Amino acid sequence: MSVRLVLFGPPGAGKGTQAVRLAERLGVPTISTGDIFRANIAGDTELGRQVVGYTSKGHLVPDELTDALIADRLAQPDAADGFLLDGYPRNGAQAAALDALLAADDHELDLVIELAVDPDVVTARLLKRAQIEGRVDDTEDVIRHRLSVYAEQTSPLAEIYVNRGILAQVDGLGEVDEVTGRLLATIEQFTGELPQ
Ligand code: ADP
Repeated sequence: MSVRLVLFGPPGAGKGTQAVRLAERLGVPTISTGDIFRANIAGDTELGRQVVGYTSKGHLVPDELTDALIADRLAQPDAADGFLLDGYPRNGAQAAALDALLAADDHELDLVIELAVDPDVVTARLLKRAQIEGRVDDTEDVIRHRLSVYAEQTSPLAEIYVNRGILAQVDGLGEVDEVTGRLLATIEQFTGELPQ
C-alpha cells in the first residue's frame, strides 16, 4: 500500500510502539527521528556528537540538521512509495520543509494522525519507561521540558492539517493492540484501502 503518513502526539503517547506495528501492516518504512538520533549517539557518529547536547536536555535539534536528515532518508528507495514518519515534523518550519520536499517529487502527505493521550498519563508512562530503558531524557525535569516543547511547538501543527482535511485524532489510551486496531481503522477510513 502506498501511503505517506505522519504520526504525532506527545512524548510517551506510544508513537514508537505503534509506528513499528503500523509500518509492518502497511508495508512502508517507519522513519523515527528520535531513533535515528539515538542510534547516532550510541554509535558516536558526527551527527550523534552534534545532537546529543539537545536531545539529552529535551530541546529540539536545530531544523537544518533534522530537515537534512529527513531529506536524505526520504530519498532512499524504500521510502519511494510511502513512509510513516514518527517524530517529524515537530514545528511549523519542519512542516513547511516536509511539504516542500514532497512537492518537489509531486507528492504530498495523505494523512496525519494525532495520537491523543492525557498529559498525566504520559508523564507516568515516561517515568516508568525510564526505569526499564534508562533513556537519559526520561528524567522528571527533562520530561516536563519535552512536554512543554510539544505543547508550544508541535501540538499547534494539528491546525495546519485540520485545515487541509487530512488530520485524524486517535485515542491513545488502552491496550497496545486496541490502539493499533483504532489506528488501522482510521487509516482504512481515510485511504479507502485495507492494509494487507
Ligand atoms: P519523545 O517523543 O518521547 O520526546 P523522540 O524519540 O521522538 O521522543 O525524540 C527524542 C528527542 O530527539 C527529542 O526530545 C529531540 O531532542 C530530538 N528530536 C526528535 N525528533 C526531532 C525533530 N523532528 N526535530 C528536532 N528534534 C527532534
